[in-house]
Amino acid sequence: MSFFSKKTKHAHPKQYIDYSESEINNLEFEQLLEAGRKVHLVIFGNLIIGLITALIMWDGLPKIMLTAWITLLIISIFPRIAILLNYKKVRAETLQRWQIYFIAASLFSGIVWGIGALLIEIYAPVIYHGFIAFIIGGIAAGGIATNSFIRWNYPAFMVPMLSSIAIFYLYQNDIFHLLMAAMIVAFMIILGSSAITFRNNQFEKQAMLQLATESLNKLQDSEQRLKDITTSMGEGVFVVNKAGFLTFINPEGERMLGWNFQELKENKEDLDSKIHVHSHNDPAEGLLKSVLKYGATVYSTNAQFKRKDGTFFPVSSTAAPMHSKEGGVVVVFQDITTQKELEKKLEMLALRDALTGLYNRGKFDETLKDELTRAQRYKRSISLLILDIDFFKKVNDTYGHQAGDEVLKDIANIISSSIRNSDYAARYGGEEFTVILPETDLTRAIELAERIRVTVAQKEFKIFENDTIQLTVSIGVGSSSKEISSELLMKSADSALYKAKENGRNRVEYI
Ligand code: GH3
Ligand code: MG
Ligand code: MG
Repeated sequence: MSFFSKKTKHAHPKQYIDYSESEINNLEFEQLLEAGRKVHLVIFGNLIIGLITALIMWDGLPKIMLTAWITLLIISIFPRIAILLNYKKVRAETLQRWQIYFIAASLFSGIVWGIGALLIEIYAPVIYHGFIAFIIGGIAAGGIATNSFIRWNYPAFMVPMLSSIAIFYLYQNDIFHLLMAAMIVAFMIILGSSAITFRNNQFEKQAMLQLATESLNKLQDSEQRLKDITTSMGEGVFVVNKAGFLTFINPEGERMLGWNFQELKENKEDLDSKIHVHSHNDPAEGLLKSVLKYGATVYSTNAQFKRKDGTFFPVSSTAAPMHSKEGGVVVVFQDITTQKELEKKLEMLALRDALTGLYNRGKFDETLKDELTRAQRYKRSISLLILDIDFFKKVNDTYGHQAGDEVLKDIANIISSSIRNSDYAARYGGEEFTVILPETDLTRAIELAERIRVTVAQKEFKIFENDTIQLTVSIGVGSSSKEISSELLMKSADSALYKAKENGRNRVEYI
């Protein structure tokens, strides 16, 4: 409990801040230190003004009186010198005591100046009276800035000093001096209220300063906490404010993007387009913008982020609106390159033939059914090729299985490069290939089969370093523009292939 604690709250009008008692104690502590820092000015002022007063009064007062007063003035400085040397030792427990020291020193000084003024009024000739009024008024006004940090400290100085003359005037018992006394009282009231205002403003300034420092520390603390948490994360995390500017990025995010925080922060370009690339099947188009606009979280596994060096990497990302006052978006992202590669590998394993990269039989069967359904729905024709290498066994027997494999890959390449994007080529069995040709009638299917047959027949297949062989293929074509089952279409193409083999191979046949 502070020394005038009961009145403390009333003495500080709540301008901006609602103080608690402990905050007030803390502020009073700070103010005492501030007063201590100003004590040397008070000492200096007392000496200079005291000296000037003595010089001017040299002939105005009896020497013995003047000497006594100066001695008294010098003695009144001692307590303040003691305060100046020791005020930093103040602690919370000794705050009240120190406040009393300050007030006592001021009271002493006020009394000494009051005595001085009284001596002049009583003993000096009238011409000195105006001068002393001027000096006393001046130091009373100047004292506000140095003495009013501690409650009662300023009045302790000002009241005894001014009231000595006021009382003296009252005793003169004439209307002129009565009015003079009234003026001094009014002057005291004005000075007193100015000192209170000054003190309150100082108090408020100190409080604001503390509040600002505390808030800043809290902010730095929470930022540090965010940093600590996100540093240990494997994901990249960044935060942008409402305006779209970066306010935070964790080390992992910096590492993945190749940009550092400063570079991205100073970037005036739209952050969305700087690091986020959206493909047309990406739901997170304008990742940051849509979150800012609609305030909803956006998940994406199709987006790509751009590195500083211009390369891209696939990411899975979550962009969520921030619920703090300033708003903004927090984005958490992961590099999913290995995941995507794994997906591709799994797709290869599940849908494609490992040797040739063409679709496998399972995928072929499924696709044929789908395409047939579609063709029938839109009443379009669809064709199917079955291709078998002629006398392939011989290749294996002569050059070995590995050489045979190379030939299979070459044939697969010929097929792939002969067909359209909308066609499906598959490796149906060992050395048999199938091609689904949607929206293709028999004539065009035969044309394509013919083209493949000729390309194969003309190709020199490389066997080992410089050996080449020539090969032929037989192709059976099945086609339909009516309702037909996949089994039946397969059967007709297969029969056509059989016919091609029967008729001497290196042929295209159809049924
Ligand atoms: P045909 O003209 O009658 O088709 O004669 P062919 O020798 O090609 O006979 P067939 O079509 O029955 O050929 C099957 C042979 O294909 C058996 C096997 O040696 C070979 N083969 C099947 N799968 C593979 C494979 O994955 N790699 C290799 N190198 N050879 C394969
Ligand atoms: Mg065969
Ligand atoms: Mg064969």
